[in-house]
Amino acid sequence: MAHQTAPPPVDADLSPRRPGLPARCGVRGCGCEDPRQLLNAANVVTVIRTLGSLALMATAAVQHSWPWLLAAYLTYWVGDSADGNIARWRGQETRFGAVFDVVCDRINCISCALVLLMFVDAPWPVAVFLFQFVVVDLPLTLLPMRWPVLSPNYFHLIDRQAYTLNWHVVAKVTNTTLLVLLLVFVPDQRIALVAASIVLVIKIYSLVRVLRLTVPKDTPHVPQAVEGAAARA
Ligand SMILES: [Zn+2]
Repeated sequence: MAHQTAPPPVDADLSPRRPGLPARCGVRGCGCEDPRQLLNAANVVTVIRTLGSLALMATAAVQHSWPWLLAAYLTYWVGDSADGNIARWRGQETRFGAVFDVVCDRINCISCALVLLMFVDAPWPVAVFLFQFVVVDLPLTLLPMRWPVLSPNYFHLIDRQAYTLNWHVVAKVTNTTLLVLLLVFVPDQRIALVAASIVLVIKIYSLVRVLRLTVPKDTPHVPQAVEGAAARA
């Protein structure tokens, strides 16, 4: 797999993804690569994993059964990873799909976290996490769409630090799994509360940072001065 800042091959096809769309600039993850297609395999997987996890979560709540909740979490986590990978592998990444995925993450994560409280008596760590994940991280994760990028996964094209703290794969996996793993495997819940609070502070810092970045106007492409110049040097 080519490095993300590598220049496009000389014979790269830079024609528009569809008639009427802008010509592509060759920067991986630039908004000009969006095929603007709603119905694709990635979005279908997003719908299936969202509904599947919700059904498993509801079953867990009704039957008061933690194995069903574990299945709900696994469906959410595995499905959330799968939809993004399918989109990348098939060249089906769209800005709509990025937003759709983020919103579906919230409903799966919130519902699972609330049912988790039936089995783990940890209201404060979960409350801090939910506030962080919905009130701070949701607007933060939608903000990159103000820039012409395919998704927050390419925000390193705009701001490396905000990307590393929030949308690098390690940061994303940590934010969705850390609290649950701490609550299940660490008896002292103050550890989970401290961890949730640290993440909240990082998210608030990131939100303020991204809000202060300059947004380019009227361009379908990410700024070439940074990535493009480096790639062509
Ligand atoms: Zn472009």
